[in-house]
Amino acid sequence: MTVSALSVSCLNVLRNKNLKNRNRMKDMMPKNGQFEMMQLPYAELPGVISANTQSFHHGKHLKAYVDNMNKMLPGSGLEDLPLAEVVKKSQGGLFNNAGQVLNHTMYFEQFGFANHELDGKMLELLERDFGSTEAFKKEFEQKGATLFGSGWVWLSMAADGKLVITQEANAGNPVTSGLKPLLTFDVWEHAYYLDYQNRRADYLAALWQAVDWQVVAARI
Ligand code: MN
Repeated sequence: MTVSALSVSCLNVLRNKNLKNRNRMKDMMPKNGQFEMMQLPYAELPGVISANTQSFHHGKHLKAYVDNMNKMLPGSGLEDLPLAEVVKKSQGGLFNNAGQVLNHTMYFEQFGFANHELDGKMLELLERDFGSTEAFKKEFEQKGATLFGSGWVWLSMAADGKLVITQEANAGNPVTSGLKPLLTFDVWEHAYYLDYQNRRADYLAALWQAVDWQVVAARI
């Protein structure tokens, strides 16, 4: 192995370790029946999401969902399960709060300051299933803009390997339909109102600038 190949190999190991840390959703486990709130990996996404929005969205909204879930978990019979399993097996208030913890953890972790260009496997899959990245983004934004009320728009992988875009109301997550969630945009008003007011479509169009596609690809 040449020195440069060795350097690339070391960089890939570091990058994969970092991606694993960023994608904690898959194996997020409670400690003594309590989940910890994820740390926000950035204070703001300049030009896309302000520090003010991040502060409320993470520090107030997500914190309330985590606190409520942790109050409801003891005695539910689900307190030793990973987060995605709690979402699949719960109902009512516990489902609403656990779903929102899973959804927000995936949402916040998929943004960053690198890997904004689509390439490799993700590019290949999106072109295969939507024709082009432009067609994919157009359909994703359209489904986010037309979701009535509060909810989430998702890109997921179905059991047959095909990519699908779905709308989920309120705290919904595609894991409850047997899909593997890869990417999500939050369309609850609290996600964009401070920065975009009622212009949900503008918020959706701006979010692409902040997506870290390596984080998304690592969820496959
Ligand atoms: Mn939210």
